[in-house]
Amino acid sequence: MPELPEVQTIINFLNKNINNIEITNVFVKNKKFLKNINENDFENKIKNNHFKNIYRIGKYLIFDLSNNLKMVVHLRMEGKFFIDENNLEKRKHDYIIFELKNKKFLCYNDSRQFGTFHVVDELDNLKEIKKIAIDPLDEKFDFDFLNSKINKSKKNIKSLLLEQTIVSGIGNIYASEILFDCKINPFLRGCDLKIGDIKNIVKSSKKILNLALENHGTTIHSYKITKDEQGNFQKFLKVVSRENKKCFNCNNLIKRIKQQSRSTFYCSNCQNVK
Ligand SMILES: [Zn+2]
Repeated sequence: MPELPEVQTIINFLNKNINNIEITNVFVKNKKFLKNINENDFENKIKNNHFKNIYRIGKYLIFDLSNNLKMVVHLRMEGKFFIDENNLEKRKHDYIIFELKNKKFLCYNDSRQFGTFHVVDELDNLKEIKKIAIDPLDEKFDFDFLNSKINKSKKNIKSLLLEQTIVSGIGNIYASEILFDCKINPFLRGCDLKIGDIKNIVKSSKKILNLALENHGTTIHSYKITKDEQGNFQKFLKVVSRENKKCFNCNNLIKRIKQQSRSTFYCSNCQNVK
């Protein structure tokens, strides 16, 4: 599942390649992705317009259209955008296709079919967007904020970082990496954390996510920026996918455990409960 750095990387790529180019045709091959609009309306509202700007709120991609409508996309598990030059490529799972005036095609591909598309005139009209929590790269995501959200919680810190109602965009990969970076044990509960711990979690969250952004995200499963490029952050992973390998800090073997049925990777020595 793409996390914040991957979604931002996709947005940077799309902004560079498709903005201000007229969309001459739209083909919806599978209408299950369209959540608040039927396929005819979707095609008609987008056709003959262009994308002005693309940005994200949490993990939602917002496409500002020249007619002032907004197309809102969530990639969920496996959603991807490809840009085909000149010719549409024969690819399995291309479900929504935007033909551009410069003969390129923007293709939405989704092998798991969990992605969503909405078209709205105001983002406030979309309840999914309204409930998105603060962005970890926002300056308002600081000690006071995180402390107020977690210091009474009996849930473990790994799960708290994944809770999209507290902070948006941190997923399973980055939660493990963040906790390793600040040497916090993933089993510690919110209420067990000291002031210094919470300050360090905020600092490490920003550090790790920015580093991942600089490296265009992480390619572990199928995430790719385009069909030929992939993210580079996997080279920087210190615990994720390193089960039974030596910790870069202390040579202890990295452990993999399950928390809320999702894998957590950590070093039981560096991230020992003090
Ligand atoms: Zn270690």
